Amino acid sequence: MEGKKILLIEDEVKLARFVELELKYEGYDITVIHDGREGLEAFLNGDFDMILLDLMLPGLSGIEICRRIRKTSSIPIIMLTAKDEIMDKVAGLDSGADDYLTKPFAIEELLARMRVAFKHCSNQNTAKKLLTVNNLVIDTEKRMVTVGQAEVELTKKEFELLLYLVQNKNIVLTREQILNQVWGYSYIGETNVVDVYIRYLRSKIDEAFGEKFIHTIRGVGYYVKEE
Ligand code: CA
Repeated sequence: MEGKKILLIEDEVKLARFVELELKYEGYDITVIHDGREGLEAFLNGDFDMILLDLMLPGLSGIEICRRIRKTSSIPIIMLTAKDEIMDKVAGLDSGADDYLTKPFAIEELLARMRVAFKHCSNQNTAKKLLTVNNLVIDTEKRMVTVGQAEVELTKKEFELLLYLVQNKNIVLTREQILNQVWGYSYIGETNVVDVYIRYLRSKIDEAFGEKFIHTIRGVGYYVKEE
């Protein structure tokens, strides 16, 4: 838990102070904000590992903050709520919170829930680190590609192109989409850079392993196919 960055958005100053001190004592790096809108702003401008989010807040409600954060982020969120707000539990979880804690709570209970949410989150990330199509595996963290037991050496652009194709397996991607995503521009003009890199990938993957991996839809684009 050392140094994990926690954002606490809670307008009850005494409770916020108590949680802040306890989490600091446990080694967390904690930022406290007392207003909903400022809390959302702090999240957008910061780099946090978890959010503890009060439900009833001035400025912007916890539910609304949660909804907005979930549009772009899967950061673990634990909602905190007063006992008489318990009816909002369903709404809280619907809005994308990972867990829910009713006030008053014992700090040990909060710490335990936080550990569970972190663990759940890291399990999900491990699962997402490896992308596969048939016997090709991309380790997105090590940026390593293997087919069967053999490693395939790719340049940076080749890797990014393959990653984009595999993330969208079985979906035909147009040259424009690929150019836009992998090279960061949309002008297609005379350039055949996409076709050139598809050829590079084919010579390294399809030909090396004797399997057709990257498929062409003439006049449209390319895709990789899960058999
Ligand atoms: Ca409140």
